[in-house]
Amino acid sequence: MITSKTKLAGLIGNPVGHSLSPAMHNAGFKHLFKQGGLDCRYFAFPVAPERLGDAIRGISALNFLGANITIPYKEKTLQFLDDIHEEAKFIGAVNTIVNDDGRLTGYNTDGRGFMKSMEEAGVSLKGKRVFMCGAGGAARAITYYIAIEAAQLRIFDIDTPKLNALVRDLKKVNPEVHAEPSTTAIAASDILINATPIGLHTGDPLPIDKTLLRGDLVVCDVIYKDTPLLIEAKRLGCTTVNGLGMLFWQGVLAFELWTHAAAPVEIMRDALMTEYNRI
Ligand code: NDP
Repeated sequence: MITSKTKLAGLIGNPVGHSLSPAMHNAGFKHLFKQGGLDCRYFAFPVAPERLGDAIRGISALNFLGANITIPYKEKTLQFLDDIHEEAKFIGAVNTIVNDDGRLTGYNTDGRGFMKSMEEAGVSLKGKRVFMCGAGGAARAITYYIAIEAAQLRIFDIDTPKLNALVRDLKKVNPEVHAEPSTTAIAASDILINATPIGLHTGDPLPIDKTLLRGDLVVCDVIYKDTPLLIEAKRLGCTTVNGLGMLFWQGVLAFELWTHAAAPVEIMRDALMTEYNRI
């Protein structure tokens, strides 16, 4: 039952109608409540660009537990926060806000979510040579952690200024991070990661020339379905990881930041998968 004690959390973005987060978080909150914990519900809020500041200030004014932030507001939200966690500062974007007695702190759980999904898939990045396509928001979030673990990280993006800016920042973490003018260095890599949106839409091509794929490559995609890249890689016998695990774990980490409780991981995963298979 919703009562005067029920708290709110939610997703702010535009559009948000396709989101899997309400199903996952509400299942988690329901479980927590049954265990005698917090009473909270999660909603999806489509917010117009000119109302973003009002919406973020509303998290504090209405005493929300917190919020997730999604496309296209992950970067623009920074200006409305009281504090920004170190990893979100580096990434330059937030996907989670925690409301602590009216004080809003921004976090970015995407990178740690990606690393958890790799761990779960049994893929270690330690000492590996990683090639990444894309230097946008998702790439920034995950390379913050990859650069720490990998022996070498090579990044290719069609947007050269964006690529160079990311590589410059990552070199502070690992000097073996390089901007690539093409994708040919995949031949000398152990792990390939697609962090471009190529593969999201039906009929999309592969983001690379498929002759660069080999059966001993680990191939990952941040897009949360089996993209043409992953389908081709699977055909060649590669180990593959899609972005569904990253989506799941970034949500679990956000849930734990809001509740200070261990997330009911399997309950949340079941809810996410049920909703994923439904839409
Ligand atoms: P961005 O637009 O910020 O970044 C994508 C980058 O890839 C851009 O710099 C773009 O350049 C570049 N690019 C496009 N095509 C190519 C190509 N053929 N070769 C090399 N680079 C290319 O997007 P995001 O980083 O925000 O998102 C990327 C994907 O990640 C999305 O599809 C999204 O669904 C997914 N994602 C998944 C998450 C998860 O939880 N699993 C979380 C967040 C994102 P240009 O701008 O010039 O086109």
